[in-house]
Amino acid sequence: MIENYITDYSYPEGIAFHYLVNNKDYLVPMVTEEPSVIAASSHGASIIAKAGGFVASTSERLMIGQIILENVEDSKKLILEIKELTKNLLSVADRAHPSLKRRGGGARWLKTRILAKDLVAIDIAIDVQEAMGANMINTMLEAVAKKLEEVLNQQVLMSILSNYATECLARTTCKIPFELLSRNGIAGEIIAKKIAQAGRVAQLDTYRAATHNKGIMNGIDAVVMASGNDWRAIESGAHAYAARNGQYRGLSTWKLSGGYLIGELELPLPVGFVGGSIGIVPLVSINQKLMKITSARELESIIVSVGLAQNLAALLALVSEGIQKGHMRLQLKSLVIAAGADATEEDAIVDRMLQEGKRDADSAKKILRDYRKRDKNDRSQLE
Ligand code: NDP
Repeated sequence: MIENYITDYSYPEGIAFHYLVNNKDYLVPMVTEEPSVIAASSHGASIIAKAGGFVASTSERLMIGQIILENVEDSKKLILEIKELTKNLLSVADRAHPSLKRRGGGARWLKTRILAKDLVAIDIAIDVQEAMGANMINTMLEAVAKKLEEVLNQQVLMSILSNYATECLARTTCKIPFELLSRNGIAGEIIAKKIAQAGRVAQLDTYRAATHNKGIMNGIDAVVMASGNDWRAIESGAHAYAARNGQYRGLSTWKLSGGYLIGELELPLPVGFVGGSIGIVPLVSINQKLMKITSARELESIIVSVGLAQNLAALLALVSEGIQKGHMRLQLKSLVIAAGADATEEDAIVDRMLQEGKRDADSAKKILRDYRKRDKNDRSQLE
């Protein structure tokens, strides 16, 4: 799959539970190196399941391919010429990857934009059906670019898809009655108000928005990876979408309405059900079977819902007990493993660190050394 290969580098995979999306229960495989992501995901999803689950939807699956024309002398004239050629250019695109059209996809529309006096962008929307589409689109664009050079004698700077997939959106919502949110003796209504307020902060402040979205992407990336998709493509599209109104904002919104907390998340999710590494990595087809999904749209609905559940769990922790309490045991476990503890020692060392209020790597090593010394003494006394 890659060049200069030396080995496989494996990541842990786990399953998030309690996902009820569009009235269907899902097991959600997640691949991540970060402790607590899967626990938080399942926790957020379980609250939403008790509230009736997620209602998710997807837009058309159109991806935008760009052809950038440079050294343009008269952009207005060029745009008119391209307009006249539109039908022809779309059919050149389709002929470059005919199987896509046979499957019901293909080039749908073409738009032009003036980027600067000498630069014009052509955006071609392509229905990619069940694939993410990058390679197919790039092939189609290069054929169109060649045609433009021939027919209009126009210089092309480059041709490539855009990862700002504004025509391939996934959306999910949840509606949680206040009582499901009560924690540690704090009324659900108070927690709901605080979550809505935290959501507002992510709309107002870029520093907070970046972290708010990182939490959402904790879940999204993990499923994108488990499903064999390109997480860099999803990340770049998500963050570009977060800044679509000129200011980078939280991707999700939370508001209160008639005794409910209403969450909503929308972002571009151009994931594939086929293509790329999907057919090559055996675990990916196992994960597709585990999820019992049959299409890219179904996968999109799950992934966007995972993003919202992840966000709910993070905000719930932040506005109640704080993020560290839930994270601490898992983070200590990572420290203890890094200190060299094996599976039979991990829990005891973590317990000792919690008892002693230690949170650092040196303490983990020292406690492990003491534990092993004591363990050895105990064994020699028995002998
Ligand atoms: P592929 O190149 O694998 O193309 C999709 C394949 O799926 C085609 O071979 C197609 O067959 C097949 N296919 C089977 N059934 C269907 C169906 N129902 N609908 C659509 N296709 C079907 O992958 P993509 O074009 O999707 O490209 C994705 C890859 O591109 C990812 O690995 C990504 O990392 C990479 N990439 C990403 C870029 C970016 O994001 N900027 C840039 C460049 C590459 P057939 O040939 O018969 O049509």
